Amino acid sequence: MNIILLGPPGAGKGTQAAGLIEKFNLLHISTGEIFRSEIKNGTALGAKIKQFMDSGNLVPDAIVLETIKSITEKHPGSGCLFDGFPRTVVQAEGLADMLMAEGKKIDFVVYINIEDAEAVRRLTSRRACSKCGKNYNIATGPFPSKENICDSCGGDLMQRSDDTADIIRDRLKVYRDSTAPLIEYYKGKMPHGFIEVDGSKKIQDVFREIEKKINPA
Ligand code: AMP
Repeated sequence: MNIILLGPPGAGKGTQAAGLIEKFNLLHISTGEIFRSEIKNGTALGAKIKQFMDSGNLVPDAIVLETIKSITEKHPGSGCLFDGFPRTVVQAEGLADMLMAEGKKIDFVVYINIEDAEAVRRLTSRRACSKCGKNYNIATGPFPSKENICDSCGGDLMQRSDDTADIIRDRLKVYRDSTAPLIEYYKGKMPHGFIEVDGSKKIQDVFREIEKKINPA
């Protein structure tokens, strides 16, 4: 099974991804996480994409598609959870072609919907462990037991450099202009596999709703 998680920054895609990969045994492919780790590790790809990420703009489609291809090729038998990808119609079509070539398809698109004001509130209070990457949120939870310290590994919690008010505003605009058109795109292409959930609800309630729609009892 292959699932796409769609929604604005701050909708809770990463949080829901953690539960979904476990429940449905999927390979988690978060382009944002992959790109952040390339930058952190100082790779050639990292150097190429840094300017786009720092400004809240999208990494060019060709680079994104190449990155996805290199990962899916290494895991031919796995079902995938695409988190934060595709973000443009060009990426969506590239993904469809890639999957078709392997005799696969997208089974579900999960669209997590939230208001801009809530997205801004969540993103500005988001923290991630500088060592292991675990996510926290000091406004909505999950909260760290000790202020600014990761529960899992003891690393320092940091704010993502693109989680500042100005860049968040730009990312939301980029989302509206380039990514939101995918809502109608996928509704039209796969009306039965399109799942819309209200991301302002509690994490567990959003998860249960997605789970029920993917796997009706
Ligand atoms: P995210 O962690 O999903 O919020 O992504 C952080 C940043 O990575 C975005 O603001 C973009 O600069 C870049 N990025 C992540 N995924 C994509 C994608 N599918 N297409 C283009 N840029 C992306």
